[in-house]
Amino acid sequence: MRNTVDILGVKVDKITAAYALKKAEQMVRTPGTSVIFTPNPEIIMAAHEDAEFKKVLNSADMCTPDGIGVVYAAKMLKTPVPERVAGFDLTCGLLESIRKTGEGVFLFGAKPGVAETAAQKLREKYVGLKISGVQHGYFSDSESADIADKINASGAKLLLVCLGAPKQEKWISDNMGRLSNVNLCMGVGGALDVFAGVVKRAPDIFIKLNLEWFYRFCKNPSRLGRFAALPKFILTVKGYEKRGDK
Ligand code: UDP
Repeated sequence: MRNTVDILGVKVDKITAAYALKKAEQMVRTPGTSVIFTPNPEIIMAAHEDAEFKKVLNSADMCTPDGIGVVYAAKMLKTPVPERVAGFDLTCGLLESIRKTGEGVFLFGAKPGVAETAAQKLREKYVGLKISGVQHGYFSDSESADIADKINASGAKLLLVCLGAPKQEKWISDNMGRLSNVNLCMGVGGALDVFAGVVKRAPDIFIKLNLEWFYRFCKNPSRLGRFAALPKFILTVKGYEKRGDK
């Protein structure tokens, strides 16, 4: 049974990072495609305005509270989550785990060439990691079925889908039926860019102080519009709490 908090209609799991990893490890070893999404404030706001996206998020087996804004929102709703569980950190923990147990991973998304570089870097970082296949994320709808077949045929048990939200979540939902060989699908945004070294993650001190968003903003001020979504998110959650319209 999941223990969740409802944030603007999106069910977010009240879990620690350690518990999330334990569950993800079980999922990757258990046949029957499980799904993990990692909603941040931007994703939850988008789902609030897109009923189909909200339904897709709520169909997952686990939604981790990715971002300090989500942790804060849960606290405001008086149903706190224990801590932030960033999709990127969960992915790293899982790769470390399957490196030893042998399940393969398929890297799907990002610009052409990025997944290949990420694969190379991941093999160095997680010695023994089995990369079952890669596929870039710029394709037309008519190619989706072939991509799903390619992933399925690769034998990968873990599928990382890095197409950005809501594309990655909707793609997983639309194509799950074809991925009968995959045990766990995760939507993890820009993770391949970070693994490949195209984008740098914030230094640890920023992450510890919950200022990763600030670091990312300083590195790329053109993302201002995306960061402005945070105060809007908090205000919307406040209104939601008052109306009790869950
Ligand atoms: N992307 C993709 N196909 C698309 C659109 C985006 O593969 O049609 C990739 C993009 O290259 C990037 C990732 O999706 O690697 C999204 O990165 P972003 O930083 O926007 O994601 P976030 O982690 O912020 O959700």
